[in-house]
Amino acid sequence: MITDVAPWGESDHLVREAVRSLLRRYGRSYFLDCYRKGREPEALWHDLCKAGYVGAGVPEHLGGAGSSLETVIAVGEELALAGMPLLSFIMTELCLPVLARNALPETAARLLPPIITGDRRLAFAITEPDAGTNSFAMRTTAIRSGPEYIVSGRKRWISSAGDADDLFLVCTDGEPSRREGRRPITILMVDMRSPGISTEVLSADAGTPERQYDVIFDNVRVPTENLVGAEADGAAALFASLNTERVLIAAFAYGVGVHCISRAVDYARERAPFGAPIGGYQAVQHPLAACWAELTAARALNRDAISAVERSDPRGAGLANAAKWLASEAANRAADHAIQVHGGNGITDEYDLIPLWRTTRLMRFAPINNEMVLNQIGQHVLGLPKSY
Ligand SMILES: Cc1cc2nc3c(=O)[nH]c(=O)nc-3n(C[C@H](O)[C@H](O)[C@H](O)COP(=O)(O)OP(=O)(O)OC[C@H]3O[C@@H](n4cnc5c(N)ncnc54)[C@H](O)[C@@H]3O)c2cc1C
Repeated sequence: MITDVAPWGESDHLVREAVRSLLRRYGRSYFLDCYRKGREPEALWHDLCKAGYVGAGVPEHLGGAGSSLETVIAVGEELALAGMPLLSFIMTELCLPVLARNALPETAARLLPPIITGDRRLAFAITEPDAGTNSFAMRTTAIRSGPEYIVSGRKRWISSAGDADDLFLVCTDGEPSRREGRRPITILMVDMRSPGISTEVLSADAGTPERQYDVIFDNVRVPTENLVGAEADGAAALFASLNTERVLIAAFAYGVGVHCISRAVDYARERAPFGAPIGGYQAVQHPLAACWAELTAARALNRDAISAVERSDPRGAGLANAAKWLASEAANRAADHAIQVHGGNGITDEYDLIPLWRTTRLMRFAPINNEMVLNQIGQHVLGLPKSY
């Protein structure tokens, strides 16, 4: 089975075996059922939490296992290889290290453990109707008023917000800074049950169970101790986590891409419109083989990126961006070829390839679009002028 990928080393080998055995209890059919019914995969999430696979990278004194980034990424890769690319995993693993490093110690000790055990669910909110790629254009404000911040504004595309207990909110302090029109960033942890918060579900389909929401803040009061990092200076705290987001999404793209190839291979072995299985035709084999080669190269690069990010090597950002670009483009091609191999069956609900195509298509523009990824390589790796 091409989805039984080789481990990177001894530690991720054991984790992968354990995660695979947990995921076998669910399978793609469980994920698909949640997706079709529009409900969160709660049972899977709770089992992942119970087994210690959510927040594994968080230090032990805050409820995590102090695992390496490589281990966290291995869990994400296995989820995707099994056809269960949980967006919540990416969002949670992006936010938890920022919280662990930058929240007040007592705030981190209060908020992190229940998220890691699965008792509370977390959502991440940075995007706004007019501030997607350009986060610095955001308009949601947190204005200090004595022991509280008063939050007003609207966030868009917030995955799972309707089911979340806590929100990792990225907003601004209302004072446009003088630097290139960039608005300063303030990060707050917000209790989703606070008065003044409402959600509106968006009509969108990413091929995964999580629904997307607008979150509206109408003078929401947030205690100042829920500040993460410095007021109006949260950009550094947030941007330090972006490489983690890139390698996570690259691992997800790799996994979903290989999952699609595996499904196409199974089908091509059986389908025989002219008497012989279509898998024997080069025209069918070669695109699948080429996608596998591209994805495997992306995975190797992603491993280099992960180890550079873990070492805080400044080259990590370039490698992580390159891995994200290669993996997401190759995964989307793999999903497309898998549909081609299935012919008409490729667009039926029964063969379940369109949701996977949607997810791989998403990974080319979110959480960061591939043009922006290439902009960053052009500017920061090649040393060319900023191009936007
Ligand atoms: C299913 C889904 C789940 C999401 N979940 C979350 C979440 O949980 N929390 C959250 O905060 N956000 C979330 N997002 C938002 C996501 O991160 C944004 O969609 C993404 O950042 C892009 O923003 P945008 O859609 O406004 O695109 P825009 O910023 O409007 O960009 C549109 C297009 O313009 C091009 N472009 C933009 N800027 C440049 C540039 N500088 N150079 C070259 N080309 C450029 C790109 O092709 C880009 O795709 C989610 C989105 C989706 C679709």
